[in-house]
Amino acid sequence: MTMDIKDLVPEWIRTLAPYPPGKPIEELEREYGILGSIKLASNENPLGPSPRAVAAVAAALANLHRYPDGDCFYLKRAVAKKYGVSPDALIFGNGSNEIIELAVRTFMQRGDEAVMADQAFIIYRLVVQAAGGASHLVPLRHFTHDLEAILEAITPQTRMVFLANPNNPTGTIFFRHQWEEFLSAVPKDVIVVMDEAYFEFVEDPEYPDSLAAHASDRLLITLRTFSKIYGLAGLRLGFGVAHPALIEVMNRVRQPFNVSSLAQVAALAALDDDEHVARTRQCNREGMAYLRSACTRLGLDHVPSWANFVMLRVGNGPRVYEALLRQGVIVRPMGVYGFPEHVRVTVGTAAENERCIDALEQVLRAGGASAAAF
Ligand code: PMP
Repeated sequence: MTMDIKDLVPEWIRTLAPYPPGKPIEELEREYGILGSIKLASNENPLGPSPRAVAAVAAALANLHRYPDGDCFYLKRAVAKKYGVSPDALIFGNGSNEIIELAVRTFMQRGDEAVMADQAFIIYRLVVQAAGGASHLVPLRHFTHDLEAILEAITPQTRMVFLANPNNPTGTIFFRHQWEEFLSAVPKDVIVVMDEAYFEFVEDPEYPDSLAAHASDRLLITLRTFSKIYGLAGLRLGFGVAHPALIEVMNRVRQPFNVSSLAQVAALAALDDDEHVARTRQCNREGMAYLRSACTRLGLDHVPSWANFVMLRVGNGPRVYEALLRQGVIVRPMGVYGFPEHVRVTVGTAAENERCIDALEQVLRAGGASAAAF
């Protein structure tokens, strides 16, 4: 092409670093000449989707020629009932990723600022940049959101603050008293996005539920997803909870059929599948305890996590990631988040966790006497 396409795009799109896509598992297996690999890289549910959701999807297949319900009518009412919120306080999206994007496109203009942790879910800053906004990145403190520093980073240009609780990739949480202090100090005209993608995994009495903090004079958006505990990541469904006035303007930006019909029926079925949720939680609790004790045995540092994944300090993260890949264990290197010595491991089934630790043990042994030597 003779024309330079880059001349056609705004500077903030030209300088946008694209989100690096993972390769399909089959491609990795072909490349590395392995079979039967396990994926512990994307914080998915190791037990699979809710069986009720699978049955609901199967039953809905005959209606694929129809457009989905653009208002998510039934799902909206079911979610509203379950969480005790008004249906008009809800917005559904193609994953909670889409709600992040809708919020930014609705509320941020070119030149506005958003404040977020430096090592938080990377999508926040990508979406802000794509909208011509600037992200003010605040370093974590002890791998955890530093809410005081985040408050200090707010300026008159700040439109939004992003918080993830638990945080991805660290798995850490901040506690109720910290959240309440933050809320009492945050300026009333700043929109706080509280991302609770891993909410259902947390079993700590001091963990705050941001739904309890919604009030008519507060610009707060809570994000939840069906991708994690409900095991529906492939269908893409997340939702936001906010004051109806905020939802109403975000709905103006939303595409009318942004949530597929299959995602809607699956989520509706999964929402009531308490047994699947309880089994997943149990699996995660046991798996996390196993990984934690394996770390102690292997002399590996890990970041205490409240979610369904954990960061392990393995020495040379990219090399350990590669070596694990050769053994068919797919984890996530953390260089992109500024943690070159760590890999992030999603808690799997008992068999997957054991295989991961066995492989890690071999890799570390081959790399030297200690993890740090690798
Ligand atoms: N927020 C956080 C903190 C996440 O880790 C993820 C998934 N990786 C998401 C949001 C997005 O989830 P989804 O779009 O699948 O709902």
